Amino acid sequence: MARPALSHRRWPQPQQVSWRRSLTRFFLCFLAGLLLGFSPFLHVDEAQTAVSSSAADESPPPPPPFAKLATIPLWKRHGDAVHGGKLLIIVTPTYNRAFQALYLSKLGQTLRLVPPPLLWLVVEAGPASAETAALLRTTGVMFRHLVTGKNLTNNKDRGVHQRNAALEHIEIHHLDGIVYFADDDNVYTVELFQRMREIRRFGTWSVGMLSQGKSKAILEGPVCNGSQVIGWHTNEKSKRLRRFHVDMSGFAFNSTILWDPDRWHRPFPEKIRQLDSVKEGFQETTFIEQLVEDESQMEGIPDGCSSIMNWHLHLEAEDLFYPRGWRTPKNLEVTIPVT
Ligand code: UDP
Ligand code: MN
Repeated sequence: MARPALSHRRWPQPQQVSWRRSLTRFFLCFLAGLLLGFSPFLHVDEAQTAVSSSAADESPPPPPPFAKLATIPLWKRHGDAVHGGKLLIIVTPTYNRAFQALYLSKLGQTLRLVPPPLLWLVVEAGPASAETAALLRTTGVMFRHLVTGKNLTNNKDRGVHQRNAALEHIEIHHLDGIVYFADDDNVYTVELFQRMREIRRFGTWSVGMLSQGKSKAILEGPVCNGSQVIGWHTNEKSKRLRRFHVDMSGFAFNSTILWDPDRWHRPFPEKIRQLDSVKEGFQETTFIEQLVEDESQMEGIPDGCSSIMNWHLHLEAEDLFYPRGWRTPKNLEVTIPVT
């Protein structure tokens, strides 16, 4: 077979070669540059695809930035490994004053450290304040911001109507958990909230009283033998008058007592509420008398009731000025310019 002769093929002239080659090179370089230029965008595209596909995955996504936590259901925020067990329903009466932001942020930060599930029922007297709403949105705790129409009627009824509004909320919605009245101004350890989850019916413990003047007691709460309540720490004055010697922050109870009386063989069909008709200092005992018959239905926690897990403070500063919403749109008049 005769091979086709190459000799007759026309080879390009030298000038033509350099012209074509440089054009091809130019084109290839242009193409490479174009691709390189686009490469960061291609990379982002890939990353986005990866994120959306992992979101469709069964496993929960990593926790989002802190400020967004409030809008994310708790069961998606944490894996089961850190799930605390029983729901805690923390009831906090509060009102707008200079110390409110300090108290609520402090309490919010404590509650943020408690493993979920936890629901914070914050009940404000009068209209909902912008300061409370803004603060609650950033705590990262699951909350409900409730309000009572009524403002304070009497100084001795501090928080009573608000706690009752929360009790009604728990009752109507059949919330199932452990109810605890945590005033905004007290100090609580994280351990306290974990211990509360052990309560079956009604749990009580000793509270360190740091409030000056009103009550001379330094400690209020149960004396225990194991978890059995065998006596009370109290002061001389209230010794004979009160049935139970517990501070408002020294007990917690099963919420089903409020809306499922049959389960607890509760004889009275009346609603369980705090009373605005009793003398100061009798709020706790008259409330507890509606929940339990006697000490045999109580659980002292922790075993032996020997540790103090929260403190009742009393530092009010009602008339202090504070900037609206804790923002300073204008500088104060007394400022020193930098020279
Ligand atoms: N509180 C309220 N409105 C009031 C007074 C008090 O909501 O007008 C709340 C307060 O924020 C706190 C609880 O009720 O959470 C108990 O009030 P306070 O600390 O003044 O009472 P104390 O501890 O002295 O008994
Ligand atoms: Mn207080």
